[in-house]
Amino acid sequence: MYDFLVVGAGFAGSVLAERLADAGKKVLIVDKRNHIGGNAYDFYNEHGILVHKYGPHIFHTNSEKVFHYLSRFTEWRQYEHRVLASVDGQLLPMPINATTINKFFGVNLNHDQVESFLAQRRNSFDRITNSQEVILAKVGTELYEKFFRGYTKKQWDLYPEQLDASVCARIPIRTNADDRYFTDIYQVMPAQGYTKMFERMLNHPNISVLLQTDYKKIQEEVRFNELIYTGPIDEYFDYVRGPLPYRSLRFDFETHEVSTYQPVATINYPNSYDFTRVTEFKYLTGQTHARTTIVKEFPTANGDPYYPIPTPENAEAYERYKAEIGKYDAVHFAGRLGTYRYYNMDQVVAQSLTLFNNLMSR
Ligand code: FAD
Ligand code: UDP
Repeated sequence: MYDFLVVGAGFAGSVLAERLADAGKKVLIVDKRNHIGGNAYDFYNEHGILVHKYGPHIFHTNSEKVFHYLSRFTEWRQYEHRVLASVDGQLLPMPINATTINKFFGVNLNHDQVESFLAQRRNSFDRITNSQEVILAKVGTELYEKFFRGYTKKQWDLYPEQLDASVCARIPIRTNADDRYFTDIYQVMPAQGYTKMFERMLNHPNISVLLQTDYKKIQEEVRFNELIYTGPIDEYFDYVRGPLPYRSLRFDFETHEVSTYQPVATINYPNSYDFTRVTEFKYLTGQTHARTTIVKEFPTANGDPYYPIPTPENAEAYERYKAEIGKYDAVHFAGRLGTYRYYNMDQVVAQSLTLFNNLMSR
């Protein structure tokens, strides 16, 4: 008899399992995959190179609370991610910064001049309602077309005007020369990898882990008081309110007989190829190796549900499931799929810590 059955051993499920176990609850955590860690799972491939099975995962957060919580389970390696975009035959810093603008337009502007240069190009809107407007309002048409429109169509099979403003607003526009992808206070990678961190989280006498186990198949057999569900919420409710749309990816890994494949960790291809970006893992992990492994991300309609798709219609569709949740006191939803939110890892951890506090203060 368990106090809690937790479905999904990714960040959401593992944080909740660990917190509940620490509070004295007996927890069973199940995952249908053959490993823990969810989409953050990493492993050494056949060449001995540490890779991320579900695409590159870079940890960054402004939350001291999240950073300190995870620090109980891992040491860290300082790592600042850098990305170049391949546009018109040049490799240019992404997010767009002063260097991008100087090289793209063939000018030589200082930071103040970049600001007024952009001010002349910006479109103005009374209210920003979608991802196209969010970028046009910052940089105008040329940069929008070359850096955002094609990439977004490829990634989502939707144009920026069809997506919530929050999607493209993830990418800042800078007038200085800062070429880091993120500017968070904490930009770190787990020193021994994500999977090792998850192993330490779940290594608790009150936690039992069951892999290759689909919740649907065991729900009648296992006895538990409360359920935490971090899989897709529509699947939990047998799609009674219709399927929620997700975007998937195919990952093509390649190992090359060179120690370095490309000049930075990630190169984005907004306007060419069927993949969106190429990432070289050794930059992320700091591993030294004579060979190197890269991954190309090919967006697809079918496959594992990796991304909720942030549109106004989909937010409404999710609201219809929220109405279902209210009927069950002993079932709690968490994580990117359980709450249908385009969340980064740190946001999922913060959300799970909040849910834990709510559960304990009832
Ligand atoms: P998941 O990690 O998806 O875990 C859910 C788990 O539930 C899965 O393991 C699944 O197998 C299991 N499950 C589902 N249904 C069932 C069932 N019926 N029975 C049993 N088990 C079930 N975030 C960042 O902060 N930085 C990044 O650089 C970054 N890069 C990303 C790159 C890609 C390509 C993707 C797809 C995501 C990226 N993210 C990144 C986001 C990050 O992956 C998520 O925020 C985080 O992994 C979500 O954790 P979760 O526990 O909610 O979900
Ligand atoms: N984006 C873009 N061009 C880029 C990078 C990002 O148009 O070179 C847009 C695109 O819509 C993408 C979103 O910004 O889906 C968020 O990018 P991010 O790198 O945060 O995506 P993730 O790492 O979550 O896939």
